[in-house]
Amino acid sequence: MTDDVLVRARDLQVHFPVRSKGLRRKVVGAVRAVDGVDLEVRRGETLGLVGESGCGKSTLGNALLRLVEPTGGTVEFDGADVTAMSRPALRALRRRAVMVFQDPYASLDPRATVGQTVAEPLQVHGLHPGARARASRVAELLELVGLDASVASRYPHEFSGGQRQRVGIARALAGEPDFVVCDEAIASLDVSVQAQVLNLLRRLQDQLGLTYLFVSHDLAAVRHVSDRIAVMYLGRVVEVGPAEQLAADPQHPYTQALLSAVPVPSPALERARRRTVLAGDVPSAAAVPSGCRFRTRCPHAFDPCPDVDPALQAVGAGQTAACHLHGVVGSREARV
Ligand code: SF4
Repeated sequence: MTDDVLVRARDLQVHFPVRSKGLRRKVVGAVRAVDGVDLEVRRGETLGLVGESGCGKSTLGNALLRLVEPTGGTVEFDGADVTAMSRPALRALRRRAVMVFQDPYASLDPRATVGQTVAEPLQVHGLHPGARARASRVAELLELVGLDASVASRYPHEFSGGQRQRVGIARALAGEPDFVVCDEAIASLDVSVQAQVLNLLRRLQDQLGLTYLFVSHDLAAVRHVSDRIAVMYLGRVVEVGPAEQLAADPQHPYTQALLSAVPVPSPALERARRRTVLAGDVPSAAAVPSGCRFRTRCPHAFDPCPDVDPALQAVGAGQTAACHLHGVVGSREARV
């Protein structure tokens, strides 16, 4: 892992219009799914992106690849502005930056053989032209993900969930990408299979020099696989830091609450530790609270929190958090 940044988001926003009922369907508001995210993914690292369901992390992953159109802000991939890319440039990006989806069954065409599924990106990007060269590359890709090349003639329904996810990974790797967004990629698998797929992803990263954004609601899994972790709450990244450092010494009250809910293997330690139970539910992304968006649930909220939207600021070596407990030094309004 290096400090060389492969993907950079600046003040990235994805807002979806809320329309009134009735014939005229006027725009009456916006769901701010991603709402001013600053994030860097370094070449060769695994950046874990964690947060409760509905916090916007999958939308953020999609926006980085421009699979959803950002409403504002910028995304850079290897120095190029993704938000301004022409169609040909976007097609080239689709080869270099790919997604591994949560549900391997839904993401594979049930009428296509595994061989056809893995070969499709090769055809789309004009790689390994000719039936024989393509079949040979498909065999290579299947073996790379731990499947026998002979399974190319079989259909997705003939496989277990873990095997189907391996097929999804082989397909994602067909274009020899640099960047892979793993969107809840192990969430639908049995626990024993989850570990196998995580080990496979790690081996592939070492072997192929991949950069991962590992999106998950499961902080324990994220901690296990990530070099750094970004914590997201209600459309915004609220803390980023090296994985072990952030887990040992979280600086944002939301990260502290998330970590306090992760079970520890020792029953004695589990009994002794303090849990932070957050008050209330996550507010709607169509009605984000003023100031710090976490203030309605934060056990430490104080005077500036309803009025000043905190910016990410350094709180340790390589660690940043957006919280006034670390000094009301930077409102986002002043900075953005
Ligand atoms: Fe809590 Fe205030 Fe910090 Fe927000 S800024 S996390 S409300 S203390």
